[in-house]
Amino acid sequence: MNTLLRIAIQKSGRLQEGSLELLKESGLSFSNGKDQLKTQARNFPVEVLFLRDDDIPQYVEDKVADVGLVGENVFAEKKKKNQIVKRLDFAKCRLSIAIPRSETYGGIASLQGKNIATSYPNIVKDFLQKHNITAGIHEISGSVEIAPGIGLADAICDIVSTGSTLLGNGLKEVETVMQSEAVIIANPELGPEKQKILDKLLFRIEAVKKAKNNKYILMNCPNESIEKITTVIPGMKSPTIIPLGRPGWSSLHSVVDENDFWEKIDLLRECGAEGILVIPIEKMIV
Ligand code: ATP
Ligand code: MG
Repeated sequence: MNTLLRIAIQKSGRLQEGSLELLKESGLSFSNGKDQLKTQARNFPVEVLFLRDDDIPQYVEDKVADVGLVGENVFAEKKKKNQIVKRLDFAKCRLSIAIPRSETYGGIASLQGKNIATSYPNIVKDFLQKHNITAGIHEISGSVEIAPGIGLADAICDIVSTGSTLLGNGLKEVETVMQSEAVIIANPELGPEKQKILDKLLFRIEAVKKAKNNKYILMNCPNESIEKITTVIPGMKSPTIIPLGRPGWSSLHSVVDENDFWEKIDLLRECGAEGILVIPIEKMIV
């Protein structure tokens, strides 16, 4: 039988859509994921299992799945022998401690002796230990942010992205415990065949990730500014330069990082570039 790499992703929730999209952008096609518990890619040796995110690290450790796609927060909480093999740049959030807004916060020492409600007892325990704080940890599985309001705890530790949920519950963020993003975790003993499939998939994912962080840029520029423009946007190796019908001018093509894109555009205009076009890149292999 041909070897399949089994990938566990979230059945429904915040990671589900991004996880499937990532696999599809990596060229994998599936019959129809959503209501099934498992599906096989038509064109790649991968089988996808749909599970609750909390269960994924255990399944990967037990080799029921070979790899899994989870939030780093869940990976850290479950403390399994799995390894992070790729960070994915989505589902970015942080795990923070929050207290009622009406309370004053005098630094981490004010958590001493308090009760903290959380779905992440292990992470909170390690965090408190690192800061020599002793506090009660009250594990609850959901609606953590209402715990102080109903007298269940003095503080909470939960996921924050914009902070609006905290605000809505009369809480304020006082400590960041960890930053998180979606990650791919893998069992460390995959064996050569599965490892080969994983490496192939990770290569594709990297190409998709790089493409998202870059744009293809083309412009017309006076020949005397080509050298300067090349230092502003060096491209993957060097820009492509094509002479134009207009004497003394060329068309210059390159790649620019999404993050410093606007700054570069200003510099290019100062160099005399005209007709600047910026185009999304679908895949990028360097
Ligand atoms: P499940 O039913 O699978 O157990 P869940 O309710 O535990 O799902 P979700 O709320 O779907 O989990 O969140 C899954 C992961 O998405 C979290 O562990 C975290 O890494 C990330 N996440 C959660 N909330 C946010 C947010 N507001 N912004 C960005 N990422 C988030
Ligand atoms: Mg969960």
